[in-house]
Amino acid sequence: PASLLELIRRNADDDPDGEALLELGGERLTHRELWDRSARVAGGLRAAGVERGDRVAVRYPAGVDWVFAFWGVLMAGGIVVAVNTRSTQPEVEFILGDSGTTVDLAADTPLPDGDPFVVDDLARGDVAAFFYTSGTTGSPKGVPTTHEAFLTNTANVSRCFAIPPDIGAELRTLISVPLFHVTGCNSQLLVATYYGGTSVIMPVLDQATLLASLSQQRISFMVTVPAVYALLLRNPAFETTDTSGVRWVAYGGAPIAPVLVSAIQQAFPNARVSNGYGMTETASLMTVLPHEDAVDHADSVGYAVPSVDLAIEPLDDADPSLGELVARGANVTTEYWQRPQATVDTIIDGWLHTGDIVRVDDAGRIHVVDRIKDIINRGGENVSSIEVESALLAAPGVAEAAVLAVPDDVMGEKVGAVLYGGGEEIDVAAVLASVRESIADFKVPQYVALLDEPLPRNPGGKIVKGRIRESVVWGDP
Ligand code: ATP
Ligand code: MG
Repeated sequence: PASLLELIRRNADDDPDGEALLELGGERLTHRELWDRSARVAGGLRAAGVERGDRVAVRYPAGVDWVFAFWGVLMAGGIVVAVNTRSTQPEVEFILGDSGTTVDLAADTPLPDGDPFVVDDLARGDVAAFFYTSGTTGSPKGVPTTHEAFLTNTANVSRCFAIPPDIGAELRTLISVPLFHVTGCNSQLLVATYYGGTSVIMPVLDQATLLASLSQQRISFMVTVPAVYALLLRNPAFETTDTSGVRWVAYGGAPIAPVLVSAIQQAFPNARVSNGYGMTETASLMTVLPHEDAVDHADSVGYAVPSVDLAIEPLDDADPSLGELVARGANVTTEYWQRPQATVDTIIDGWLHTGDIVRVDDAGRIHVVDRIKDIINRGGENVSSIEVESALLAAPGVAEAAVLAVPDDVMGEKVGAVLYGGGEEIDVAAVLASVRESIADFKVPQYVALLDEPLPRNPGGKIVKGRIRESVVWGDP
């Protein structure tokens, strides 16, 4: 296809009465209705002055309006600025200014509707949307994402998750992650569009509704972040949930504990489970751990997707298989929007530097060791916070864990763990005893802080370690 618009045009022509969208508790739309109503939004945006390349912020909550706005902006020839709906007012103002937004579709702004309009000269290289990075390590950066990048990602998802090309309307995905990040938009909404299937959108994440919807809405493709799978599997309602119709289960966005992967495979016995690793800068997926490896190699993110070249910049000469992962390819960005310094620092000779330290095993599988910024250097030994977190999550009573460096005069840094017991008391001695059985001595946390509330996370399910660092009180080792 020459642009994303061809996907919804094809669905409207080939299967006009097929179900394109369902907002739980809200509207249900056919492919024809989706096309028609989006074209009227485009007409309304044109009437409001939107021209080719103009930026339009989409700030609706997850639901059909968000989707109309997305397609309407593209049909008008504009660029979607996907804004995190949990942003504070100063954050919103930053993104609106940074992106040069001319029309702001805020939550209380009615969807513009006019005479149907659809541009006819879109090319694959045109920018379709700006997505912003999650801001886990600093302020969010705008990533101009092309039709090419979006289309390449949908093809990668279909290949790597092994979803048959002819599945059509049987591809029904439940979108419970944000649409303003690449997983929900690119790897769910647009994948369903690619197949001519259905996106079932949950406006608010509610565990009971999610579990009931799996069978009620005949969901075949389930995607969410590790933290949500952990909650769902612990929910008493899970025992009576019919998961037999779910054929593809994907997780990603943050490291997952191998114990959780085994539990997911048991909970979804008919599903191919796959780990997807990527970033905003790669329009979603960069690697996939295929179903065949999912349980046996659960600490890996697998192999490069077909459109991406990967390389490793070794940390030192001693071990060329350990270092920063760099990537290039059709779905990898070549710039950050109006951030020349970040662009030259990150994209070097055409290779995007991911900021993730990885290791490659003998079979060529990638393992995300840690974010460069989160690696702990304990007296010269590198400790991966992800590895220690996995060990902690396997220990009795630990519901959530974050591992951070604690500054130390002698060792430089020591290992600190912040734990949450999900409302139950944590027996620290028992946790440390359990951890000692699986990881080397020098990695075992010297400091433990207990929280009586869940760890702070952003909507992508990522623990915001910066916020923990600011507030944690370590006490005595
Ligand atoms: P910022 O770049 O603004 O600090 P961010 O990196 O969290 O925020 P995203 O683009 O949403 O923004 O997240 C990409 C990062 O998420 C990756 O670089 C990686 O660290 C992590 N990640 C994504 N998927 C996985 C996965 N399957 N396993 C482990 N880590 C993952
Ligand atoms: Mg990042």
